[in-house]
Amino acid sequence: MAINWFPGHMHKARKEIKKVMPQMDLIIEVLDARIPFSSENPLVPALRQNTPVIKVLNKRDLADPAVTAQWQASLERDKGVRAITLDHQHRDEAMAILKLAREMTAHRNLERSALRVMILGIPNVGKSTLINTLAGRTIAKTGNEPAVTRAQQIIKLPDNVLLYDTPGFLWPKLSPEACGYRLAVTGAIRAAVIEFDDVALFAAEYLLQAYPEALRDRYDLDPLPADGLGVMDAIAARRNFYGRGGVPDLHKVAEVLLNELRAGKLGRISLETPAMVAREAQQALAGSPQA
Ligand code: GDP
Repeated sequence: MAINWFPGHMHKARKEIKKVMPQMDLIIEVLDARIPFSSENPLVPALRQNTPVIKVLNKRDLADPAVTAQWQASLERDKGVRAITLDHQHRDEAMAILKLAREMTAHRNLERSALRVMILGIPNVGKSTLINTLAGRTIAKTGNEPAVTRAQQIIKLPDNVLLYDTPGFLWPKLSPEACGYRLAVTGAIRAAVIEFDDVALFAAEYLLQAYPEALRDRYDLDPLPADGLGVMDAIAARRNFYGRGGVPDLHKVAEVLLNELRAGKLGRISLETPAMVAREAQQALAGSPQA
């Protein structure tokens, strides 16, 4: 997967964040609960030093609750990190983040002054939605696209919190390769970057091994096919997706599978677990090819 993430923009965002980060009392990092590792911003561990972090596992309504609980426990092993779960339907829980931010910084005696909080998140994790919820109004998006350059926004929130929303394209993690695919499955990386049909095939293979019953129930696949391509063929047969000459229309299958998965129609599905990520890291270290 050869992707050019605009090194100039990456450099600029990094410089910007590096400059602002030391002035911050706390960081809110918005993650996609389905991929808490792949949606992490690589800059946070590199630049945060001792600044406390609240990791928001957002879109929890789409993720497997048991796996999300594993992630919470795993992320909180890091010093100064609290991990909470959220979805955009629960304003009260979003507002509780501000209370938690105060608690996590209480030892620093900041009660009477404004709390400076930086919010970070790669595109599509729901950062803007959360900012709007916290602010109680619609705030214009900062530039998430590589070509957009806008000034950093400082948003006044209740409880004397100042939220710093840093512009610049906050690029996602693309290594190991599986991260790129998982990001693409959630829609965080657009189809133009990775071949759409390949993304769907990746999803079909993953579902077959991690959530076979969800596949079977949604597409009435009994018995289940042996591999991802078999799953796609079987969905074509079930939904009658055939092209000219009676060939299965795999592009149509890819579109339907990914749209339905993203919309939660296959149930609550997580795309990575702490154990999977640890295994991949070991494989990368050992230099062995990834499965
Ligand atoms: P940003 O790029 O991180 O600022 O993401 P947005 O706030 O624009 O959200 C991206 C998409 O995710 C939008 O279609 C939102 O409606 C949707 N979204 C945001 N939060 C949630 C959530 O908690 N659950 C679900 N299912 N969708 C969400």
